[in-house]
Amino acid sequence: MDLSSELPRRHSIPFLVVAPAVVILLGVAVAVVIAAQGVRDVRRQSDEAAELRARLLAQTLAERLRVASDADYAFVVERAAQRSGAECVVVRQDGSVVADAMLAPLGRERLLELTARGQGEFVTKVGRTRFFAARLGRPRQDLSVVVFVDAPEQPYAVRSLVTSVAAFAVILIVVAALVALALALDVHADVTYVRKRILQMAKEGVEASGRLIPVRTIDQVGQLTASFNLLVERFEAAERAYRQDLAGALAYDRDRSAFLSALSHELRTPLNAILGFTDVLLSEVDGPLSDEARENLTVVRQSGQHLRSLIDDILDLSALESGELRLRRKDIDVFAIAEDVVKELRVTAEAKSLSMVLSGTTAIAFADPRRVRQILSNVVGNAIKFTSTGSVNVAVVRAGSLVRANVQDTGPGIAIDEHESIFEEYRQSGDLSVQRAGTGLGLAITRRLVEMHGGEIKLESTLGVGSLFTITFPVDPPPGVTRSRSEAPPPSTRNDDQGALPTGR
Ligand code: ADP
Repeated sequence: MDLSSELPRRHSIPFLVVAPAVVILLGVAVAVVIAAQGVRDVRRQSDEAAELRARLLAQTLAERLRVASDADYAFVVERAAQRSGAECVVVRQDGSVVADAMLAPLGRERLLELTARGQGEFVTKVGRTRFFAARLGRPRQDLSVVVFVDAPEQPYAVRSLVTSVAAFAVILIVVAALVALALALDVHADVTYVRKRILQMAKEGVEASGRLIPVRTIDQVGQLTASFNLLVERFEAAERAYRQDLAGALAYDRDRSAFLSALSHELRTPLNAILGFTDVLLSEVDGPLSDEARENLTVVRQSGQHLRSLIDDILDLSALESGELRLRRKDIDVFAIAEDVVKELRVTAEAKSLSMVLSGTTAIAFADPRRVRQILSNVVGNAIKFTSTGSVNVAVVRAGSLVRANVQDTGPGIAIDEHESIFEEYRQSGDLSVQRAGTGLGLAITRRLVEMHGGEIKLESTLGVGSLFTITFPVDPPPGVTRSRSEAPPPSTRNDDQGALPTGR
């Protein structure tokens, strides 16, 4: 199942950086819109106010002038202009000026046009204005008064409005940015805290299962922590089940080893008796044997020996698996043991017309002599067993901090893809239908024994040419083990009866 399809899409830009930036941009945009709207409103209101003032002034002035004498017109108009700050002019119907309080006087045509329009916007030389033209009542209906009130493009209120909005926006943006930053730092602190706790739990040697992370917040980080804790609980349950299964498996393994060991011992005792009495009969101390009886007894002895070697292998394997097999190491001469092994097996080799050569000199290693003999017997025995013509050569040499034993034969060789598998339990190489006598346990036990010594067993082989097994043993004891010290004897009782009746295995 593709889990990635269930996960939310990853944001390529970190949210914690984008959030404050978006807040700032949005703040600026809103401030600009508010300011633009405000400026438009202020300008409209300013225009309306100017228009209203122009109308009020014009109507008031018209009323005054209606009752004033002609000689006072100039004075009244001048005073009204001074007091109101507006510009005023009194015109006749033909456009001629009666009284004028204008900063920049207007021509006749223009005045006629303005009195005809009545009111509106007009730009004088001084600036933009709103004007209103009011007729004087009876008896001076031939006169009109036109008042111009300042209506600037940028009213004064606009500047203060823009300044206020800008200041307000800056304050808001700074506050928003600070809040976003505080949030980001808080989230960061929470995430760092959770990360630290997870790393602590993941540390080697720390009992991680079941340790929950205290949930500090109820936000997303808190939810994440809670989900993680759920995972921890599930993991703990799975681990508990696994431990139970493992304990069951180990107990089963122990029972199996104990059963095998007990059974092997039970089988070995009567078998030793059978082999012992067969030897006695074959030695003819109780009287001569017929040829047929001797032949039959030889078959009995061979089968018995095979059975005992099988039992020995099973015993060794169960002792190795249960960890009961202990080495009794000391300084031993591997060459001397190889000499014994070769001497013992030479008869078998000669029976197959194989030449057998041992080379080397004294080579002291720190090893268990009984196990070294077992190892060499197994490898040399295999070489003889699987070789039909040619030779089996054994060489023991000292190589630096190791003693190396080479066992070379001119046998059938082992295919490269079986170089590893032949060291596994119950594995035999080659065509299964033509397998020779054996259990497939010898090399598995041999490798375990060699590795217990801190050595190695290696195989080089070419099909149809032969095989070379190289076994190494360390010269010095492993760190922490002194030369004088022998390791504890194995608790197995098999040692006691070992060698009671030598069988040549
Ligand atoms: P076995 O009891 O069958 O000899 P081993 O574990 O000693 O069991 O050997 C495993 C297999 O490895 C053998 O069955 C054989 O096929 C192969 N083998 C071991 N030694 C040699 C050798 N010298 N030449 C060819 N094949 C070998």
